[in-house]
Amino acid sequence: MHPPISVSSVWRRPVSPILCRFADGDVDLVVIGAGYQGLSTALHAARAGLTVQVIEAGDIGGGASGVNGGQVIPGLKQDPETLIVEFGLEAGERLIEFSAGTADVVFDLIAREGLDVEHMRCGWIQAAHTDMAMEAVVQRNRQWRVQGADVALLNGADVALLTGAEGYRGGFIDRRAGVVNPLALVHELARVATEAGAGLVLHDPVTAVRREGSFWRVDARSGRSLRARKVLVATNAHSQGLVPNLAESLVWLHSFQIATEPLPAEFDFILPSGQAVSDSRRILVYYRRSPDGRLVLGGRGPMRAPRSAGDWAPLEQALHRLFPMLGKVRIEHRWFGRVAMTQDYLPHIHEPAPGLVMAAGCQGRGIGLMVALGKPLAQYLAGGNPDALPLPISPLRAIPLHRFRRLGVAAHIAWYRLLDGLGR
Ligand SMILES: Cc1cc2nc3c(=O)[nH]c(=O)nc-3n(C[C@H](O)[C@H](O)[C@H](O)COP(=O)(O)OP(=O)(O)OC[C@H]3O[C@@H](n4cnc5c(N)ncnc54)[C@H](O)[C@@H]3O)c2cc1C
Repeated sequence: MHPPISVSSVWRRPVSPILCRFADGDVDLVVIGAGYQGLSTALHAARAGLTVQVIEAGDIGGGASGVNGGQVIPGLKQDPETLIVEFGLEAGERLIEFSAGTADVVFDLIAREGLDVEHMRCGWIQAAHTDMAMEAVVQRNRQWRVQGADVALLNGADVALLTGAEGYRGGFIDRRAGVVNPLALVHELARVATEAGAGLVLHDPVTAVRREGSFWRVDARSGRSLRARKVLVATNAHSQGLVPNLAESLVWLHSFQIATEPLPAEFDFILPSGQAVSDSRRILVYYRRSPDGRLVLGGRGPMRAPRSAGDWAPLEQALHRLFPMLGKVRIEHRWFGRVAMTQDYLPHIHEPAPGLVMAAGCQGRGIGLMVALGKPLAQYLAGGNPDALPLPISPLRAIPLHRFRRLGVAAHIAWYRLLDGLGR
């Protein structure tokens, strides 16, 4: 029997106050959604002199930005050579350069703006549990070394020493990466964006965006309404209904997480240097220590909202498989959120009508990506030159048979879990 469900994230926000206000006339830019994408863009647009209004349906970071694992990993799911094949030499190299620097942008921003965000730049380990998985990290390491990145291969003993976990053949460390308190990051982004002049309102879902002459009219549920020259729809995995085909261009999945009680000193050998880790299983788990010494572990959950604490059971099993010595440690937090995937595992920028812009599809890598995308998005929204963007603007297309695609993904997850369980 599992205890009754109690969903609470381990992350706490800083106490810094944030001034919420609504514009009293037309604005240059309305941003829909107060996650990393919306707030980073709002910050840079306001600094560039645009009048900006952010409108958020829930709380700051109420989407993925406030509940994620806090692993700041540069690069994309696809490795450099795949990006060159996908985009050609020039555009591919531009995207590689941008994606290589996304973690730099996050940690530089924290330092430069004095953000009250617990963080540590200690690297990310991709741990390989089979020879096949090891071959994949060898390729990844080779491709990033060609780019001059600070990455290295690890043997099984290295991974055991750095993680304290059992059962890995080896892995790869990317020293550009690190960890942050994700909720603090989005909260502090809201603070600096509003201090830079952006307006922000919370708990007021936008219900309609429509063309009105040379402006966009944006209506919210409370009856608030305003006109903007440009609109950024920064709703990502939480997109629904505002822009035709946006939600249908994505498959969203649930990522579930657990956090133990703060671990006693006898477990200091678990992630002693604080790295973030993802493992190589098809249904991967990712883990890290929290600033107060918990082990925080996440992975793919059911496609539906959780019904009982049993929905987190596969994560607890993974925790005990990796760290059997933690048998008696209590799980104190369980929570979940939505991740947006695309069919080609790449993020996309769309502009289905002039001045209506959106970026979506982070494949669980959105901290660095969306914080770093804020500046080029703001430059594009201010000036209209697509060369400012690290990705080409792509057509907004629904995935064929979208509704069934989610069922297909659920079936794949069950199959992959079985293969992972068999160690293949
Ligand atoms: C459990 C979990 C773990 C993850 N772990 C990591 C990790 O370790 N590292 C990493 O890099 N990435 C991770 N990710 C992914 C990362 O969190 C996201 O890619 C990133 O936060 C996306 O930011 P965003 O601003 O684009 O979207 P979001 O943060 O989802 O923001 C979208 C916002 O739009 C708002 N919204 C939606 N509709 C409306 C409307 N009609 N009107 C107004 N507002 C609206 C939502 O309320 C929401 O606040 C994880 C995600 C999850 C869910």
